[in-house]
Amino acid sequence: MAKIKKRKHLFGPVPSRRLGQSLGVDIVPLKTCSQNCVYCQLGLDAATIAERSEFEPIDIVLHELEELLKKGLNADYITISGSGEPTLHLGLGKLIKGIKKLTPIPVAVITNGTLFSDPQVRADAALADLVLPSLDAGDPETFETINQPFGSIDYNEFIEGLAKFKQEYSILMWLEVFFADGINTSNEQVKKIAEKIKLIKPDKIQINTAVRPPAHVAGRVSQQRLSEIRDMLGPAAEIIADYSKLPKQKKKILSTFTILDMLERRPCTAQDISDGLGASPEEVGLALQTLEKNNRVKRRTTDGKEYYLPA
Ligand code: SF4
Repeated sequence: MAKIKKRKHLFGPVPSRRLGQSLGVDIVPLKTCSQNCVYCQLGLDAATIAERSEFEPIDIVLHELEELLKKGLNADYITISGSGEPTLHLGLGKLIKGIKKLTPIPVAVITNGTLFSDPQVRADAALADLVLPSLDAGDPETFETINQPFGSIDYNEFIEGLAKFKQEYSILMWLEVFFADGINTSNEQVKKIAEKIKLIKPDKIQINTAVRPPAHVAGRVSQQRLSEIRDMLGPAAEIIADYSKLPKQKKKILSTFTILDMLERRPCTAQDISDGLGASPEEVGLALQTLEKNNRVKRRTTDGKEYYLPA
C-alpha cells in the first residue's frame, strides 16, 4: 500500500494502543474545546467554548476520505478526534453517516463527553460504532481543577448525559479515566469516580496517566498506584498508559575530563563532585586516584575539608 501522508483533515493511519491502526479525522480547528484539561497535549492557553458550530466543511472531509479510500486504506478504525472536541461540530452526524456510505471500516468518536447533556449530540454520536468519552473527576470541584470546563458546563449534567447516552443507545463505550498525581488519585476520589462509572455503565474503563507529560504538567502516576486504582475500579478496568515510552535513564559514564572541567571552575571535595555529576562516591574516588597519579589534580585542606584542584 502506498505510504499515506498527512492530509488536511485526515491523519494516519497511526498505531493506537486503544484502536489498533487508526485513521484520524479532524473536524475542528486546533484546540477548539469545551475544556482546558491540565494534561492537554494541545496546550493550555485556548479559550473554551460550548456552543456547537460548523467548523471544517464536512463535504470536503468526506471528499478527502473518498480519495484516500480509492488509493487503498487499511485501518481498524476511522477515528473522529484530533485538535479538540469533535462533538462541537454541528456536522458530526452528517460526517458519520457519510463515512458509513463510503466504507465498512468502523467509526470511533473520541470525546470529552461534556456536550452529551444535549440530546442531539447523543443522537449524532450514536451513529458511530464505538464512543470513547472521558471522565477524570468524582465531584464538581475536581472536575473544575483537572478539566477546567467552559463556565456553563455542569458536572452532574455531564454525568447524566453520559449515563443517558448509554441507556438510550446501548452503544459500545470505552470510558477513559486520566489520573494526574495529587489531583484525582486519592482513595476518596477514586471511590467517587467509581460511583459515577456505575451510573454510566461503560463496557470498558481505560486508565491513563501522563507517561510523557507536557512541560506544563507534572502529573504522572506511578505504575504501582495505577494498578491499585485499577483494582479499585473493578474487572472492566485496564491500564492503557504506556510506561515503556518513558525515557530510559542513561547510565552516566564518568569522565576524568568532566571532573577536571569542574575543578577548573572551583576546587571541590569528592562529595561535591559526586553530587554535582550524579556519580557514585566509589566512581569519583577511582577517577580522582587516576588523576592524582597522572599529576592532573592535587589536594588542599581548608577548614578541615579536603579539596581537589587542578595541579
Ligand atoms: S478534552 Fe481533550 S482537547 Fe480538550 S482540553 Fe481536554 S485533553 Fe485537550
